[in-house]
Amino acid sequence: MKNSDSYDIVVIGAGHAGIEASFSAARMGMSVGLVTMDVSSIGRMSCNPAIGGTAKGHLVREIDALGGVMGQLADKTGIQFKMLNTSKGPAIWSPRCQSDKDLYSLEAIKLITGQENIEIIQDMAKELIVNDNAPGSDINGNNYRYSVKGIKTETGRQINCSSVIITSGTFLNAVMHTGKSNIEGGRLGEKSATGLSQCMLGLGFETGRLKTGTPPRLFKETIDFSVTEIQKGDDDPKPFSHKKYIDFPFQRQIDCFLTHTNEKTHEILRTGFEDSPMFTGRIKGIGPRYCPSIEDKISRFSDKPRHQIFLEPETLDGETIYMNGFSTSLPVDVQEKAARTIPGLENVKLAKQGYAVEYDFFPTHQINLTLETKLVSGLYTAGQINGTSGYEEAAAQGLMSGINSALKIKGSGPFILKRSEAYIGVLIDDLINKCPDEPYRMFTSCAEYRLILRQDNADRRLMKYGYELGLIDNEMIKYLTEKTTLITEGLNFFNKNTISPKNLNGILKSKNSSELTQNEFLSNVIKRNEISLRDILELESYDENELIKNLRKNKDAAGQIEIEIKYKGYIDRQDEQINYFMKNEAIRIPEDFKYEKIKSLSTEALEKLKKIKPNSIGQAMRISGVRPSDISAVMIYMRG
Ligand SMILES: Cc1cc2nc3c(=O)[nH]c(=O)nc-3n(C[C@H](O)[C@H](O)[C@H](O)COP(=O)(O)OP(=O)(O)OC[C@H]3O[C@@H](n4cnc5c(N)ncnc54)[C@H](O)[C@@H]3O)c2cc1C
Repeated sequence: MKNSDSYDIVVIGAGHAGIEASFSAARMGMSVGLVTMDVSSIGRMSCNPAIGGTAKGHLVREIDALGGVMGQLADKTGIQFKMLNTSKGPAIWSPRCQSDKDLYSLEAIKLITGQENIEIIQDMAKELIVNDNAPGSDINGNNYRYSVKGIKTETGRQINCSSVIITSGTFLNAVMHTGKSNIEGGRLGEKSATGLSQCMLGLGFETGRLKTGTPPRLFKETIDFSVTEIQKGDDDPKPFSHKKYIDFPFQRQIDCFLTHTNEKTHEILRTGFEDSPMFTGRIKGIGPRYCPSIEDKISRFSDKPRHQIFLEPETLDGETIYMNGFSTSLPVDVQEKAARTIPGLENVKLAKQGYAVEYDFFPTHQINLTLETKLVSGLYTAGQINGTSGYEEAAAQGLMSGINSALKIKGSGPFILKRSEAYIGVLIDDLINKCPDEPYRMFTSCAEYRLILRQDNADRRLMKYGYELGLIDNEMIKYLTEKTTLITEGLNFFNKNTISPKNLNGILKSKNSSELTQNEFLSNVIKRNEISLRDILELESYDENELIKNLRKNKDAAGQIEIEIKYKGYIDRQDEQINYFMKNEAIRIPEDFKYEKIKSLSTEALEKLKKIKPNSIGQAMRISGVRPSDISAVMIYMRG
């Protein structure tokens, strides 16, 4: 492909963040140069061949509702779909799929190459080119020190642009560790990216070091699956995307398997501790606490006699199995010996060793809510470089950085999602205000309004924005409008209409639910635990009712009506909390507010408020280290 020397936007890295960033920007009319060290690694799944899961599935649904592509890629390549947590409340139902990782990458390459306005450049970005005099300030009133002009690459190319988005993942100055061996590289078989960190340090950025790890991959033919527990996917798999597919699921669906470690496994793993790069201090970077390595698990939870190991095919017909739950950087011989003590793995051979990788990240007090850096106008960072972990977290940031860089170039205002609107809003708000110093992963517990931010209503919350940005087409918005109307009419109908004992008692009796003695509002009946909306929709007495006939056909709309009726009390309470939240968001703090003039502020609060420069009292309240008394002092001072 012939590349030009000038683009509106240069995206560095074509992982999960880079794909969404380039896609969204290109679809918003920007010319995009997508720089990647290796074209064949576009969309590669570094670790688990799976998309979604608790809270992460919510992110994927939101990305899709805004016009991003991760949901579609997962749908096209999914080989096992499962809705997690269905035995619990709907706020935490989370879609997950196992994907064929090779297909995922191929589909990503197909999407990128088929997208107008994106040119792929196989090269390593080494340096940023900036202008010294940068007029203006960012959305928080921080004066830029520089503005971005372009990049220089390893092969000596200079590429000019108005904006750069860095999505370098685990690759900046990356070192991989297994036992005593440590070699440069961001992923097994891939080199690390050098130059960029040093350049950013030179511009005045602070950097830190994080680590993550991955388990061994196993040869399928060396596993005895007959002694493991089969883990089936859902019988009626649901796609991530809101698109209306005809042939879903697209791939053959497969099983996964569950087995466990035991005392013998742990004993063997312990023999490797003295060569462990983690325990001997050779790894300095902080790792994800919630996703510990197997050596971490057996040393932190030494009373646990066994740990779960999920055996997950990496591809539909390939030879390798992902050993989920056995992330390790112990010596390879210890990895294999320990694995062979696990039921089903007695004769197992490792196709690839487990390892840990340490890499540079840029602490997030250096960016604002648009993911633009405070120092360099037009420079954005997204994904693992911002200290997050996970494909979905990366994709969400990639999408938001692509949108915001395009908006800035067009001269439009920023696009920022509130915590009350989206998990994506929670993610970015947490990054900016809490500045995590360990890998940040999304959990449903991070969201205070999680009954509102459900995976099933991502379209109703966010698709209007995707449409306004030009990322959602007319057909999708037409479907959304029809669905929203159906939900409103349905809620109205069930709240206002009653049903007689004669028409309902048959079904109540069959469900062991107390029978009616007089007419009852339908919504009160649907609220009963033992009754589902479907029970009502299927009543013969409604066979001629057009609204009910439409709801029988539209399962999405019916599902949301049922949740909104059954959980009305909780939803109303969260709506009230959101009103309170919005009031605090609406109290703006002037950009040039002089915090140092308030004598009663704690030292920590003063330092954080000056560093983050919150836009509103609401944002100030969420900054870690800022106490309620500090907020009162700021409000009193603002009132004069
Ligand atoms: C060994 C390992 C284990 C992991 N384990 C987990 C886990 O257990 N749980 C979890 O949630 N996540 C894990 N991850 C992280 C997961 O892979 C990332 O969160 C996710 O891929 C981040 O997406 P990204 O787009 O930010 O970066 P990546 O997917 O890493 O993509 C970055 C891309 O940028 C390219 N690149 C980097 N620098 C340059 C440059 N200067 N010039 C050109 N191209 C460049 C790289 O070649 C790469 O293609 C692991 C990653 C690794 C490597």
